[in-house]
Amino acid sequence: MQTFASLGLSEPLLRALTACGYTTPTPIQVQAIPPLLAGRDVLGCAQTGTGKTAAFALPVLQHLSQAPTPARVRRQIRALVLTPTRELAAQIGDSFKTYGAHLDLWHYTIFGGVGQNPQVRTLNQGLDILVACPGRLLDLHGQGFVDLSKVDFFVLDEADRMLDMGFIHDVKRVLKLLPAKRQNLLFSATMPDAIVELAQGFLRDPIKVEVVPQGTTVERIAQKVMFVDRMDKRHLLADLLRDREVEQAIVFTRTKHGANRLVKQLDEDGIPSQAIHGNKSQNARTKALDDFRDGRLSVLVATDVASRGIDVDGISHVFNYDLPNEPESYVHRIGRTGRAGREGVAIAFCDHSEGDFLRGIERLIGQSIPIDEDHPWHAADAIPTRPTPRPARGGRVGGRSSGGGSSGGGRPQGNRPSGSGPGRWNGGGRRRGRG
Ligand code: AMP
Repeated sequence: MQTFASLGLSEPLLRALTACGYTTPTPIQVQAIPPLLAGRDVLGCAQTGTGKTAAFALPVLQHLSQAPTPARVRRQIRALVLTPTRELAAQIGDSFKTYGAHLDLWHYTIFGGVGQNPQVRTLNQGLDILVACPGRLLDLHGQGFVDLSKVDFFVLDEADRMLDMGFIHDVKRVLKLLPAKRQNLLFSATMPDAIVELAQGFLRDPIKVEVVPQGTTVERIAQKVMFVDRMDKRHLLADLLRDREVEQAIVFTRTKHGANRLVKQLDEDGIPSQAIHGNKSQNARTKALDDFRDGRLSVLVATDVASRGIDVDGISHVFNYDLPNEPESYVHRIGRTGRAGREGVAIAFCDHSEGDFLRGIERLIGQSIPIDEDHPWHAADAIPTRPTPRPARGGRVGGRSSGGGSSGGGRPQGNRPSGSGPGRWNGGGRRRGRG
């Protein structure tokens, strides 16, 4: 069996991994770390929950630590990680903090939706690793606050989501700002043609690694679909949420407005919940996520965009209150449960207008989702004629995840005084300090 040491990781990283309680590398780590340490480009097909962040963060840290910046010389950005959402950026920042605990490397996280001044101040002080969302990065670069000319390690994370969110042109613009000679890594949960094309454009002879073949779902998740009138969905949900088996649930709605409305309706039914979506302030999103992670909140209502990168081990249930119109989103959504070796339940609500979405999902995952009609709101006439699903490519492979390492961040690592940037430089504490 492979160990982290046998993958070639250095002692300070091994120590940090032991402190996290990781005993064995996940499949994506086994596949990606050795070629990355050897300087190869990597194309990874893996979703959140597989351990992909450590798969790229560890080699980045090891490379950078082998060529330390001399004391009193200003640090320059040598590794750039691009990721689509603030939450994901914050989690990746945390991973660098955790895994790099024994290295003298500074990282920082930048994203939009918050004031730029603290970010500019930190950038001016110099850092080794920058984790960024593309919009804010380009904005700050345009203003002359970011120098990308020394980047020799570039990671494009969640490339398919970048595409979904309309960031692909921003990504291409960022690519043009990087030096030609560098090592590249691209991770994507799915590989639509546009991503394959993008990858071909900047990866050099990449090693391909894949842990969750396209369209497969995580094995530990029990999936069900319930047919229900649109008007009755809220009652069905309230009933299900009252079940004691539901420890923590994330409920997906299609729109921000729908998320807000549902929170109000649940409140009327005596069920506390909070919504996270793109219209919420960063502080509100951070607070809701922190409450959820720490177990003070058991129901989180989210849109796809906002939920990207939510990595909470205790989510027992995922409810697709509205079915997503992109089948891939279903796979991403239900992957929020069944983590850290636990069982998870994913329940989809399907009303009369959503039959086509359900069919699309079943085609993608290559299986029929079992129908649960054992509830008072069963709407038999919403059941679409069921096609025989086409098997998903490559069969089913369980995702892998485990606890630890997901917390706030965005603080350059190193011997800096804490408190030199509001909310950004506070070290140590888990799940705190996202800016
Ligand atoms: P990711 O796919 O990067 O979002 O990681 C999912 C979760 O797995 C995170 O909570 C990580 O801290 C955790 N993790 C990553 N690698 C390992 C490992 N080798 N053993 C146990 N947990 C891990």
